[in-house]
Amino acid sequence: MGHTTLQIGLDDTDSVRGMCTTFLAYAMVGMLRDQGARFLDYPRLVRLNPNIPWKTRGNGAVALKVRTDDAPRLKEMALDMMESHADTANGANPGLVFLEGDDMPGEMSRFGSLALWRLIRRQDARRLVRRCGLESHHLGNGQGLVGAIAALGYRFGDNTMEMLSYRRGDRFGTRRDISAPSVRRMQEEVPSTFGSYDVRRDRVLITPGGPDPVFYGIRGEDPKSLLRASEMIKAGEPLAGYLLFRSNQGTGDHLQNRLDARDLRPYDSGVISGTVAAKPVTGRGGNVFLDVVSGGRNVCCAVYRETGIATTAGELIAGDGIQVGGGIRRAAPGRPRTLNVEFIRVLRLERGTVWTNPACPQCKKRMKSRGQNQGYRCQICKMQSPARVSRPVPRDIRRDLYIPAVGAHRHLTRPRQRLGRINNAAFDDELPWFVVYRK
Ligand code: ATP
Repeated sequence: MGHTTLQIGLDDTDSVRGMCTTFLAYAMVGMLRDQGARFLDYPRLVRLNPNIPWKTRGNGAVALKVRTDDAPRLKEMALDMMESHADTANGANPGLVFLEGDDMPGEMSRFGSLALWRLIRRQDARRLVRRCGLESHHLGNGQGLVGAIAALGYRFGDNTMEMLSYRRGDRFGTRRDISAPSVRRMQEEVPSTFGSYDVRRDRVLITPGGPDPVFYGIRGEDPKSLLRASEMIKAGEPLAGYLLFRSNQGTGDHLQNRLDARDLRPYDSGVISGTVAAKPVTGRGGNVFLDVVSGGRNVCCAVYRETGIATTAGELIAGDGIQVGGGIRRAAPGRPRTLNVEFIRVLRLERGTVWTNPACPQCKKRMKSRGQNQGYRCQICKMQSPARVSRPVPRDIRRDLYIPAVGAHRHLTRPRQRLGRINNAAFDDELPWFVVYRK
């Protein structure tokens, strides 16, 4: 085993036209192992703030950690690979960062957790590179340095695993042929996987739609169940290989911090707690808008129909106590700065009431109003009553947590089956966590 620990962070090598940072990681893992490096952990796939406007897809960044006795050579080879793989012609702004040693500066860990919910400027990444004595390389505008540092520094409080299977080069850009029943069966038989199949809509969720090299990605709690799950999937093409990642997907880690209603910054992610100001308004297309009073401020919240929780939002009434989590969208003409809601936790329900004209105690008919502030009178027996009466109505929601339907989950959304679950299993190098199939 070598004597130097080398940690490598990389991000933003892809564009919407092709490539994928995890695919570069897959190639890099092969190179590092060929060079005799020994891995100290599974590769990390860290999903960062999902509300960053310039992300390509799921805002994922990758980090690798190995022992080697030839760090300079590995760095040179990693840099060559980054330069030749990166799709800079189509807008990628790759960043590659090397950290030698086992220790992680506290400042990098803080940067890693901030990148989950804040917008971080490139200058801040460059400053950190200098302060922590990191070796960094970038192409384009260097925005990729943010993700590369964050992937290294991020501290897992909980983690899931993802097995990413890659296509052979000649299949890139072609339609993915996967057996939907095999995915559905896999989900049923390996319940420690999640988000693979949308039963309600009959839709496979593990295959991306774009031209990138990923064939499928199966997410789950532990490596062994992913290996078992992948054996059950029937792919309509020969695959190149796969790589298992340790990930923060499904942990909800971007929604841990409380946002301050007096200082909501565009693209921040987090939660606010408060009181529903008035009955929510349902707009065209079924999207629901409501104001939540938090810290004395009204925060405009939008619950989109696709999330599957808009109906729940529509059931709220003034005075309900709720916590909502999501990302801040910047203001636009006719629309204030808005929190796009990713979950609703109902904390307190007001009594639902309807107000009606009083009923006549004799003939039981509803009384009629006599005009403004003049009370009510029965038209038959002339009985009078001064005011309207309220009647409790049952509420159609409960004190509970409402999360989006599985088909609308983001990478970081904590699925219902993961509520309260925390993993931190050690690395098991005996498992086949990286495999390239023979042609
Ligand atoms: P894929 O999921 O296919 O890897 P992606 O969605 O991760 O694509 P990238 O091409 O990596 O998208 O682009 C995301 C960019 O945003 C990167 O340059 C990354 O460094 C940067 N970034 C990530 N998190 C933040 C943040 N919190 N603040 C500012 N920039 C960020």
